[in-house]
Amino acid sequence: MTAIDRLHDALAAHGEIRRDEPMSRHTTFGIGGPADLFVTVRSSEGLGAADRAARDAGVEVFVLGSGSNILVADGGIRGVVLDNRARTEHPGSDGLTFRLESGTSFAAFARKMCRAGLDGLSWAVGIPGTLGGAVVYNAGAYGGCLADVLTRVLLQDASGRRDWVPAPALGLVYRGSAFTRGQFAGKTVLETEVRLAPGDAAALVERAAGHDKKRLAAQPRGRNAGSMFKNPADRPAWKLIDDVGLRGARRGDAAISEQHCNFFVNYGNARASDVASLVEEAERRVFDQFGVRLEREVAFVGAW
Ligand SMILES: Cc1cc2nc3c(=O)[nH]c(=O)nc-3n(C[C@H](O)[C@H](O)[C@H](O)COP(=O)(O)OP(=O)(O)OC[C@H]3O[C@@H](n4cnc5c(N)ncnc54)[C@H](O)[C@@H]3O)c2cc1C
Repeated sequence: MTAIDRLHDALAAHGEIRRDEPMSRHTTFGIGGPADLFVTVRSSEGLGAADRAARDAGVEVFVLGSGSNILVADGGIRGVVLDNRARTEHPGSDGLTFRLESGTSFAAFARKMCRAGLDGLSWAVGIPGTLGGAVVYNAGAYGGCLADVLTRVLLQDASGRRDWVPAPALGLVYRGSAFTRGQFAGKTVLETEVRLAPGDAAALVERAAGHDKKRLAAQPRGRNAGSMFKNPADRPAWKLIDDVGLRGARRGDAAISEQHCNFFVNYGNARASDVASLVEEAERRVFDQFGVRLEREVAFVGAW
């Protein structure tokens, strides 16, 4: 019996388990090989318990939100993927504060808050992903970011200890945090807390609709993971990629979007290696021509 076999039995109490589950079914890119064990959890308790059981067994854990900011290797993910569907929302008694399980859809929650006349998240209505993923990247758009409204998060560390950590201790910056810098290795976001402000529902819904319109006009449809690179301080990444002649470049079914050069798209059966090859080409050409090192926003995960 392998460690994975033993873990299969231990995890059955906490969620639904699949073996050798293709990650292409669980990423917005539609790309990625199999996960050894894929466990769907539906509460923060279940997420914490499954995380603890896997780590106690010495098995590698990957916490999956909506898979909207990752490129999973063709070789898949060894160990356990925790598919986080913990989505309970707990409104506070003040009507402005919300405690949210980390698998809550960020965009759906933001839209609901606009309709309820609560201000602070109208910029987020088009951002796919979970609250957990939004914490890791300090998700943001149109001048707003999660750090503006996040008050604290419930973290579980690799030993199973849980603490409410105040937002300033997460080191949230443009598309980054203590997680992306490797300082929170082994920590899992179980819950988040946000605080909004009273606002006018009609005005917020209208503002959100304006953001939807802009997004629809600017971004390609189809399978992708949003912006591949962070924007360098002085020029947007799409402009640099365009200027080195890579607009529309293709490898197999992977392409750099004609519409928005910082979006890498899967036209059908793209392999992770095809996308990676285009990414490396963009990095090389931009560095050679402009001396700028592009920094990846999308995380490359799994067995590369
Ligand atoms: C079409 C499109 C448009 C986008 N536009 C934007 C945009 O405007 N602004 C923006 O900021 N982003 C944007 N993104 C990127 C993406 O939606 C965000 O980064 C989002 O916050 C990722 O959340 P997720 O749940 O999908 O995370 P995943 O992709 O599932 O995971 C990303 C990382 O977070 C970790 N993680 C996830 N949940 C947890 C948890 N509970 N605890 C610990 N670690 C966790 C994962 O292990 C992984 O390392 C866009 C993506 C797409 C596809």
